[in-house]
Amino acid sequence: MMSTKTCRTCILPETSLFPLDASGNCKLCNSPSLLKHIVKKPDLEELERLIAQIKQNGKNRDFDCIVGWSGGRDSTFMIHELVRKYNLRCAAVFGRTPFTPIEITDNVHAIADKLDIKLVEIETPANHREIAGYCLKKYLETRTPILINLACASCKFINREIFRQAKRLSIKTIIYGGNRYEYFPSGPASIDIDSENRYSFANMLRDNFLRLAKGVKVLAASPALFKHLYTFFAASVLYVNQYTVFLRLRYPGIILFDYYHYADWDEGKMLEVLKNLEWQLPPGCNSTWRADCVFEAVKNTAFKNQLGFSYGQAMYSNLIRAGKITREEAFARLEKESISELRLHEALKLCGLPEDSFDDIKSK
Ligand SMILES: [Zn+2]
Repeated sequence: MMSTKTCRTCILPETSLFPLDASGNCKLCNSPSLLKHIVKKPDLEELERLIAQIKQNGKNRDFDCIVGWSGGRDSTFMIHELVRKYNLRCAAVFGRTPFTPIEITDNVHAIADKLDIKLVEIETPANHREIAGYCLKKYLETRTPILINLACASCKFINREIFRQAKRLSIKTIIYGGNRYEYFPSGPASIDIDSENRYSFANMLRDNFLRLAKGVKVLAASPALFKHLYTFFAASVLYVNQYTVFLRLRYPGIILFDYYHYADWDEGKMLEVLKNLEWQLPPGCNSTWRADCVFEAVKNTAFKNQLGFSYGQAMYSNLIRAGKITREEAFARLEKESISELRLHEALKLCGLPEDSFDDIKSK
């Protein structure tokens, strides 16, 4: 399917949603403002300042910080750095889901021991699988993109749990390992706010209203979704990320930030550290991106179907725009990193759907 033209700067193919201009550039390469918060340079000075403040706040407490740990590449490397490089006393909340590969859980246990981290293991709500299966089934019937996001609603409760655990353990700092390059502006369900300060209080308030407006439209079109209304509302407004208005007001006085919004994100260095920690890649993964969740294969398949290119293509395009990899490297990686059939089938099975559920869609 590589028949179409590709953007001359990134690796997005030309599609109706992403046409190329006369000079051969795509809409995103031509919209630097949408990408401001993605291509931002690391700010190590600010990181040092934050670390000093965290240590100060941690005095006379058992821990300096609590982190959200998915067991994936980015959060695992982050914890290693916080402990070994910055000497922080870390607690970690590991949110296990029905889609967490067993190898990832084993990695987390072994590495928590090695780094002497207090591990708090939690599970997403009991109806996680039911909701994911329900949304996925509706998606296959209607192809409404937001249903794929709602399928992941249960995971958002981990955000609430991290705050609760911080309070329980009397910890004043929460650190996340969010990776800016995974954000795709203009995606089928993305909330685009054109600002360098994407997660400021004011912007998150706007974000909440935009999500509510979107949600009302989706509900009007698919009233069956009312069944899980609370989960969807909580997931998309209260806990969609750690910066929501609700969490900030509910848990004031907490320092909260994403490590990679300041630290350098250097994939080569990460992989080296993970190797030393004996972090194992789960079967079927041909890349370390989102190794922590098999449902990712479903999201990726839906994404590709909706937009005409894969999530990998979108992310690598971000990396190119940020100057992290070259266009040639991105093409070479795409070549060997297709969506894993094994993981797709595993996720579908867990959702109670037949293995070939996506075959109709894929062949189109
Ligand atoms: Zn482009």
